[in-house]
Amino acid sequence: MKKSRFNGLRIIKPRPTIALLSVVVILVLIIWVLIAIFEGEKPQARLEPLPGYLSESINFNLRVSDRRMGLRNIKVSVKQDGLFIPILKKDFLYEGLFNKRGIHEFEGEFTIDPKGLNMVQGQANLIIEIHDFSKRRGGDGNLSLLEHRMIVDTIPPSITATSRGHNISIGGSGLIVYRPSFDTCESGVLVNDLLFPGTPFSRDPQTGIYICYFALPYNLKKDTPLYLWAKDRADNETKRVFSYYIRRKRFRRDKIRLSDRFLDHIISRFSSDLFEPGETKIDKYLAINERLRRENHAVLKDLSESPTDEKLWDGPWIRMKNAATMATFGEHRTYYYKGKVVDEEAHLGVDLASLARSPVQASNTGRVVFAQELGIYGLTIVLDHGQGLYSVYSHLSKIDVNVGQFITKGEIIGITGQTGLATGDHLHFGFMVHGVFVSPIEWWDPHWIRDNIYRKLDIIDKPGEK
Ligand SMILES: [Zn+2]
Repeated sequence: MKKSRFNGLRIIKPRPTIALLSVVVILVLIIWVLIAIFEGEKPQARLEPLPGYLSESINFNLRVSDRRMGLRNIKVSVKQDGLFIPILKKDFLYEGLFNKRGIHEFEGEFTIDPKGLNMVQGQANLIIEIHDFSKRRGGDGNLSLLEHRMIVDTIPPSITATSRGHNISIGGSGLIVYRPSFDTCESGVLVNDLLFPGTPFSRDPQTGIYICYFALPYNLKKDTPLYLWAKDRADNETKRVFSYYIRRKRFRRDKIRLSDRFLDHIISRFSSDLFEPGETKIDKYLAINERLRRENHAVLKDLSESPTDEKLWDGPWIRMKNAATMATFGEHRTYYYKGKVVDEEAHLGVDLASLARSPVQASNTGRVVFAQELGIYGLTIVLDHGQGLYSVYSHLSKIDVNVGQFITKGEIIGITGQTGLATGDHLHFGFMVHGVFVSPIEWWDPHWIRDNIYRKLDIIDKPGEK
């Protein structure tokens, strides 16, 4: 059988490729358009700030974006007790193919003023609804719903003094007993911008009674107003006057003439790390007397930020036995070098001198919170007596206690010396009320303690005698 070269079937196919391709292209296009207009990406939103409480008018910043179909509308409202208070409403136009020219990013501000909006005290939810131009959800678009819960609290706390007879000396201490309202979260006495924090009188918060040890710094002006102060969780603040009398105090003034020999002697006792290259003798002395002093005071102030809540002390503080007072509290010292005033400082403790290397007793019961070298103060011990009261022992030659140790009144804690910026063996005894140095004399005096402290504490225990 002969095979023809052409007898094979020549299948003439219809030419479907172009038509099919067109169908496929159209389908793809339709799918692509559908995907585009039915996109499921929700708008993004960022709100700042996010306060937990609303006590006053707050400005909010809202940033919204939608990458795909763009923003359709934004609605901000506050929901309280089932009612919606409208805050902001914004509608955007659909522009260009697939809203390409529409708004995809928006940043706006709005204010919520709880008083202006007559909001009631209690919970309020800030609700932000953002729709995009997607065809989803029946054509409404994707919805981003933000809800931020806040508490409306525009009522400041109240605070009332329950103690009387607050006679305080400049450079001295005072105690006030008061009752803050239950919404109070921080309270105390304000002396200028210094806050002396109060402590609950008892571990039982139901009593609602607070006590606060406060002080008038040695350089305070006599006409400075004092206030009881309270703040609640919503940052509402209250300032109340209370009855008090401020006694003026005159402090000794001293002139100290610095000789080159004295400067050499003092400078040699401090590490050369303290000085900058090229500093003169007097510069170096001032680096010690001014700069180092400030740094040392900052350390002591920091220490006093977290006092023990309980009263650890009992009765008057012990003054070092058989010791002569070499320098008093608040002494104002003017330093002269070659006839010129170079520095002025105040002496914020009492210098007590007895025999060299005398034992030093804990002046009252407390906990050791500092026991090491401290610049101009040399070897120093600080005892925390609770509720903001601290005693400070400086220029020691030996420390016999460790931080954290509980010390009973009268226990030997170290030995006197002349470390730091001291001339001659003595104890520099300091007393701090919440980090402010005060005259220790009051705390050594049983009459002062009875009249100014115990009398007020006793009344809390026996409220009938008020
Ligand atoms: Zn001193």
